[in-house]
Amino acid sequence: MSTVDQKALEELKEYEVDDNVLVNLLNIVMKILEKSKLTVGLNGELFVINNEKASKNFQTSRYATSNCKALLSDGFIVASERFLIEIECAIRSFEAAGSLNSSSYLRSDADLFSLVYKIRDDPYKYVRRIRRITELNSQKERLIQETVALTFLFFIAHEMGHIFTNTDARNFTEFVNSNSPLENRLANAVVKLRRHAEQFLDLEFGLPGFKHILDEGDKVQKSIAMLQKEIEILELNHSKWFKDEMSADQFATKVMIEHLSEQGSDESSNAIMYQMIRGMFGAALYSWYVDLQAFSLALGINWPPSSVALAVTMLENREQYIKAASLFGNIHQFTLLRAQQLMFSVIKARNNKSDDREAMARYYLTCMLMDTAVKIAFVGACTAYFKQRERLGGPKLFVIEFESINVALKRVNNLLNKGNPWE
Ligand SMILES: [Zn+2]
Repeated sequence: MSTVDQKALEELKEYEVDDNVLVNLLNIVMKILEKSKLTVGLNGELFVINNEKASKNFQTSRYATSNCKALLSDGFIVASERFLIEIECAIRSFEAAGSLNSSSYLRSDADLFSLVYKIRDDPYKYVRRIRRITELNSQKERLIQETVALTFLFFIAHEMGHIFTNTDARNFTEFVNSNSPLENRLANAVVKLRRHAEQFLDLEFGLPGFKHILDEGDKVQKSIAMLQKEIEILELNHSKWFKDEMSADQFATKVMIEHLSEQGSDESSNAIMYQMIRGMFGAALYSWYVDLQAFSLALGINWPPSSVALAVTMLENREQYIKAASLFGNIHQFTLLRAQQLMFSVIKARNNKSDDREAMARYYLTCMLMDTAVKIAFVGACTAYFKQRERLGGPKLFVIEFESINVALKRVNNLLNKGNPWE
């Protein structure tokens, strides 16, 4: 082991979380994992570190992470304290805002971006303030802590999944890095976006008029296949990583379902299911808007970004869709899709008992919000084909409208007013 890593390891082991609430949340998570039959024999000790307080040495070591990471050879998991606090902030904010329809954060994209901005600016300060809301109500505080802990459970269990399947040093997720340049390689972008589009379609998130682009023999598919050849090794690596990430998510989902099934009564299993949905919703919505914000600003959109400004900017030239590949990280399934898949699985595991309108509204809003990513993936996958067609004098203008959060919420209300679509 290099001296950099050796020193970083010492630093990691020395760091102690001094935030009582966070300590409590992590204890809840670890207790569930200790009881789990799925994690028997897996070495998954958890270390938490505050990256801002950590040394420069640590930040360049293999232990550094901006969220969570499994280190196979060391047999432990590292989590960033700041990431956990940010997710806590997001979940508490949505819980404190009441029903989705009355939530001040969902009135417009600008409101939601403001929340993201405030949390990102100083999550430690934000969390101190938002915890005060439930400070004197021990029952509410217990519930909210449980909700946050169940969300952390998914992150940590995902890392346990990597240990289980022997895949090393992968971060749970990647936020779009606002300091690094956006994707600019056509082949990488197209191949990656096609892969996401295919998965979206498999899980019934298709884009009308675009489904054929994935068919063998289709002109778009042919243009992608050419590019795929250019980056064959990368494509192989990416497919392998993508698969590893999916199986880690599947492992985590099993842990969540096992926890549901171990409750004493149907009532408490359902209560836990609703908490899982609410927690994942807060974490996923927050993460997606963090990425959307970083992406919009990198494209030069003024703050606060909006769906209209995004649509206009994406129209400027084809290169925008290459850049948009950055929204999908490198190896993971798409953020909202991961949350949606978990929610879907836990609802199904509880025999579709989904009579809690608020929890269901959160599930369906997560589905509706897939819209922007689906459009970007399908249209982006056509970039090479479109560029080719344009060179031959084909049509240039192509408008894709993106949906704002308030419009998506309206669609959820319309859907739920017609009755529970699940039944
Ligand atoms: Zn992972």
